[in-house]
Amino acid sequence: MAKVGFIGLGNMGGGMARNILKAGHELKVFDLNDQVVAEICVEGATAASSATDAVRGVDAVITMLPAGKHVKSVYLGENGLIAAAGEGTLMMDCSTIDVDSAREVVAAATAAGMNMVDAPVSGGVAAAAMGSLTFMVGGTEEAFTAAEPYLDNMGANIIHAGKAGSGQAAKICNNMMLGIQMISVAEAFVLAEKLGLEADKLFAISSKASGQCWSLTSYCPVPGPVETSPANNDYKAGFAAAMMLKDLRLAQEAAQSAGVTTPLGQMSRDLYEKFTDMSADDMDFSGIINMLRG
Ligand code: NAD
Repeated sequence: MAKVGFIGLGNMGGGMARNILKAGHELKVFDLNDQVVAEICVEGATAASSATDAVRGVDAVITMLPAGKHVKSVYLGENGLIAAAGEGTLMMDCSTIDVDSAREVVAAATAAGMNMVDAPVSGGVAAAAMGSLTFMVGGTEEAFTAAEPYLDNMGANIIHAGKAGSGQAAKICNNMMLGIQMISVAEAFVLAEKLGLEADKLFAISSKASGQCWSLTSYCPVPGPVETSPANNDYKAGFAAAMMLKDLRLAQEAAQSAGVTTPLGQMSRDLYEKFTDMSADDMDFSGIINMLRG
């Protein structure tokens, strides 16, 4: 079994780190929040005094941080993880961040003689706790092969997306589709209501017709048809609208940097900006149907 350093024990990282422990690895942890560190140490992890302390003498490092700026500040520079970890340490960043930052950090790790992957996840807090996440992995074949057994401890599907940054690219492209699709499904239900078509009937028909998609059949934005939808729980997240907005912003940054126009992606970002401004922090992204009703 390996020695693993884990940094970022929040909603997602907490569950993921516990699955690394359950797999029998020796775990050293660090988070700015002492409380979450104390909780996992009761279960067998060891507290590190800093992020760099967490990576000294370990075989592999996993980070699960909020955004690109956190990842860059933790990994890069004289006091960063890359400088502190020994040559040959495997680095896995599972945070959802912008493609350019992911590539910059992987390039720095590679230059220091380390294998590193960007490995963002699909699946929420429950999947993180259950070890059933989907990992989208960017990096060399060698880095992917080295990372796969650890990611396997935390996920159900581990997919090699391509070179460094491709994991982040897959994540934002997927979530741009999701944001657009949720709005399209919500608009259709709003229109159906006005046309006197019952929501149950539209669901029964479209889930068997060409409008079918995950936002309809697994996460229907109206109460009723899908028992587990946040719509049946007063639109409590689930997948928070703020998280969707973060991913749609990342998609637009990437589109701009690549010189691509994605008009519906842009419009979805604008609509989610408006929606998050007017809703509670724990509002699910499917709640946008209530704003679209007017
Ligand atoms: P979170 O805010 O709950 O956790 C982030 C943790 O990082 C916090 O505990 C914070 O204290 C810690 N942290 C921040 N800066 C740090 C630093 N410099 N050193 C050490 N610790 C630091 O966030 P989360 O919901 O766990 O999300 C983490 C990542 O996963 C994000 O990039 C998010 O977009 C992505 N993600 C989240 C979900 C979800 O449903 N929550 C789903 C898929 C992907």
